[in-house]
Parts: sequence; C-alpha cells; structure tokens
Amino acid sequence: MSGPTPASAPAASPLPPAAPSAPTDSPAVAPAVPVDAPTPLNDSSTPDASSVAPISPAVTATPAVPVSPAVTAAPAVPVSPAVTSTPAAPVSPAAGRDGAGVAGARLPQVRASSSGPAPTRITRPADALAELIAGNRRFVSGRPEHGHDVSAAATASGGQLPHAVVVGCIDSRVPLEAIFDQTFGSICVIRSGGHVVDRAVLGSVGFAVSALKVPLIMVLGHVRCGAVDATVSALRTGSRPDGDVGYLVDEIAPAVRGVGLDDPDVTAKAMRAHVARTVRRLRDVTGVPELVAAGSVSIAGAVYDLDTGWVDLLT
Ligand SMILES: [Zn+2]
Repeated sequence: MSGPTPASAPAASPLPPAAPSAPTDSPAVAPAVPVDAPTPLNDSSTPDASSVAPISPAVTATPAVPVSPAVTAAPAVPVSPAVTSTPAAPVSPAAGRDGAGVAGARLPQVRASSSGPAPTRITRPADALAELIAGNRRFVSGRPEHGHDVSAAATASGGQLPHAVVVGCIDSRVPLEAIFDQTFGSICVIRSGGHVVDRAVLGSVGFAVSALKVPLIMVLGHVRCGAVDATVSALRTGSRPDGDVGYLVDEIAPAVRGVGLDDPDVTAKAMRAHVARTVRRLRDVTGVPELVAAGSVSIAGAVYDLDTGWVDLLT
C-alpha cells in the first residue's frame, strides 16, 4: 500500500480512495478506431492475428531459441497433432508438481521442452540470500542483468527452479523481481498490503519450500508503507477501517503497539518490527521448522528504501 511520496504532501488518508473512473461519455475513452471502420483483420487473405498463435514445426524443433519478431510474424502454419498432443516436459520433479502452471503458460511460439538449457538451481540458503542482495546491488547500480521480455519468459517456460520466496507489500513502487534483478523462474513472489500474512500466504510459503524446494524465505518491508501508516492512524484515532481492510490494520497493530504511539518515529520502527514479527510467524509454516533445523531453509527480513532502491537486511 502506498503512502504519500513527497514528504511535503498532505497526510494521506489511511485508505485513499480509488482513482475515479473516467466518465463513459468522455472523449478520452472514446474508441481510437470508429466502430464502423474497416479492419484489416477482417480481410480473409490475412491470417487472424487475434487467434491463438500456431506453432511452427521449425520453432518447436529448436525450443531454446528465443522468439524473434520474424518468427512471431510468420504466416500461420497448422499445428500438427503430434506437436499439440505432446505436453511440455518438466525439467525437475519440482517443476512437475507445478506442471499445471507450466503447461498453461501463454508462450505458444516457443514450446517448453526438457531439451532446453536447464536453469541452475541455488540450493544453499546463504547462496540464495547472496544472490538476492547481489541482484539488488545490480539494480541500484543501474546495471541489471535481467530483462523481462518474452525471450526471458520462454527460456524459463520449461520448468522452474526458484531459489527464494519473497513476501512483500503490494505497494506499486516495490516490484520484487525488478528490485532484486531476478528473471523468470528465479523467485516466487507473494504480496499483500503491508505484507500481512493470512492462511493463503502461509500455504503459499509452505508450497514454495516443500514442493518447489526454495532454500530462502524473505520478508521485505519498505519505508513509508501506507499500511503501517494506516494502522498508526487507526490506533491514534480509534477509527478502525471496516471489513477486510480492517484485517490489515489488526495484523499490523501489534507491531505499532510494541513501538508505542508516542514514539516520534513510530511508523518506521513499527514497519521494522512488523517485518520481524512476520519472519517469526513464517517460521511456523508447516514443514519449515524441520527444514530450518536441517539448514535447508533460512528466513530473512529486510527493508527496501523507496528513494535509493537499496535493500537492507534486518539482523
Ligand atoms: Zn507498503
């Protein structure tokens, strides 16, 4: 959840209203093309670009090659029954357990195959943490290694070997793959307002460590978190938001109370306390205590700085 960006901006309400929708009769939302205008796609001599892109046998025979504009623009070639009846082969047992998502990936131009380059798995928690921090430093330096184009997606489409599950806030200024410079298949991402944990989050973390074998769980808070701000305001005014939004406040409130509303830096301190509290809670996810005791999984807390892009580990 977003807090006010400029320090000089008026204090945001705990729960800013959604942006108003444009009036339906506004010129701004008028169709760019008149509805009665002819469209080239209706021309029977032109392949229908809106249909599912067929698979070229030449492309499926070389799945490791990223999709090129020339390939995607190629005329339609009928898909052979042999190709369509062959499911994407997972590259690992972990990928197989998540096979539904892999097979359903919308990247038909380059079909997943076990013959493609297998991604390298990071198995040690310390190495996974080092990679996330190194990725953040690449991001901060303006020299990220990973783009997020379709060729990167296709490269990873045959299976996933993620090395971390990151639980972060929904704040639109904190896109986790970008700030850790991670590519497709590298990290599992769970986001909620103020990284509040509910049963779905706990189950997702459990799935990541048990089925996908991630060695690292990271909880990432961020400065000027609107959810923490909202909680501080709610406790100060005694006005708790109704319903589901109130649930977020209820879950963050213990951290705020622990710091104390009289503390002049309550929002920043409460955010860090809430990260630490979330880390402790994730230690109880089914199966995690045993994996932590065995040294197979570790859990880390960290804070992201909106202004510098820097991720600081909490100790
Ligand atoms: Zn936030």
